[in-house]
Amino acid sequence: MLKKVTPPCKTILVAGGAGFVGSHLCDALLAEGHAVICLDSFLTGRRSNIRPLQNHPNFRLVEHDISTPMQIEDRVDQIYNLACPASPPHYQADPVHTMMTSVAGTGNLLDLAKHKKASFLQASTSEVYGDPEEHPQREDYWGHVNCTGPRACYDEGKRAAEALCFDMLRLGEVDARVVRIFNTYGPRMRADDGRIVSNLIWQALHNQPLTIYGTGSQTRSFCFVSDLVAGLIGLMNVQPNPKLPVNIGNPGEFTISELAQMVVSLTGSQSKLVYKPLPQDDPQRRQPDIARAQSVLGWEPKVPLSEGLPHTISWFAAEVSAQARTPHT
Ligand code: NAD
Ligand code: UDP
Repeated sequence: MLKKVTPPCKTILVAGGAGFVGSHLCDALLAEGHAVICLDSFLTGRRSNIRPLQNHPNFRLVEHDISTPMQIEDRVDQIYNLACPASPPHYQADPVHTMMTSVAGTGNLLDLAKHKKASFLQASTSEVYGDPEEHPQREDYWGHVNCTGPRACYDEGKRAAEALCFDMLRLGEVDARVVRIFNTYGPRMRADDGRIVSNLIWQALHNQPLTIYGTGSQTRSFCFVSDLVAGLIGLMNVQPNPKLPVNIGNPGEFTISELAQMVVSLTGSQSKLVYKPLPQDDPQRRQPDIARAQSVLGWEPKVPLSEGLPHTISWFAAEVSAQARTPHT
């Protein structure tokens, strides 16, 4: 049981709370005075992300895989579902489990939310738009996803999870909210995550070749993690429930080549670029339309890439030094 909760603060369950985004969310919720239950299987999360929280009186860790039903004895007022591997190499490593995490796992957490009468926020993704034919992507665009390709376990799993949330909402069973997260970066990304920002920084800091898949002309829009966390908390708490998905991302759009040049210049690395094949179904362009987040939440990103990238590089540089001294867990 949680040791101490000071009313009127909430008890908030963060599934995936030991991951990159989830651990920053746990930090923010604890700082607001809430009690946090972090539920995680450590599939891709790390104990080091939450180690500073483990002695916090309002923090509790539950190790559990959400694809099987869970029992939580505490009162729960809100549930954030961030539990899902997020990088292509990780979510494709066990695609059936990824699909079950999104579908059965979200279903299990929605059942818990119904039972506890808790509000529920689902971390969906810009991947629901697939390789988009509309640009930038607005929430009313239905997407262009290959349901038989290697990304489908993630994209279609997240689409099914959205459908579950909106069904439970329409049935009046859960106060469900859905955020569509665009590429997010910052401290605590895993070096072996396989995503572009962590790959490039890690490679540059080790003077290894920077891997560019395809020509590097494909684009992404990069949101700093603190901006995302503010959007998640905003959407969970806004009244009334907008009952519509909300994009959260930074509209600043960069080619992968531009990002690589920025990383080389900020790190002073000797690295050269190497070109590798473009993965199947890799989206060519991605940029959020954030008009809904601006009007419904009053949210917009505060940290441009020119600020967030140096900050993230400094964090990785400290990791490199720390790892030289002790192995990471
Ligand atoms: P992450 O891999 O760092 O975090 C995911 C966390 O969920 C990890 O701690 C992992 O151990 C846990 N987890 C995975 N499967 C689980 C399961 N079956 N049961 C219990 N725990 C499980 O990824 P992240 O970047 O922090 O992403 C968090 C969420 O945001 C994910 O749902 C992801 O799909 C979504 N999202 C992230 C991004 C991004 O750019 N970071 C973009 C779009 C969507
Ligand atoms: N990418 C790349 N080199 C890498 C890792 C990724 O060129 O080492 C490309 C990838 O093909 C994609 C973009 O960078 O076009 C973003 O990839 P990431 O895996 O970060 O996110 P997602 O494709 O899920 O948006």
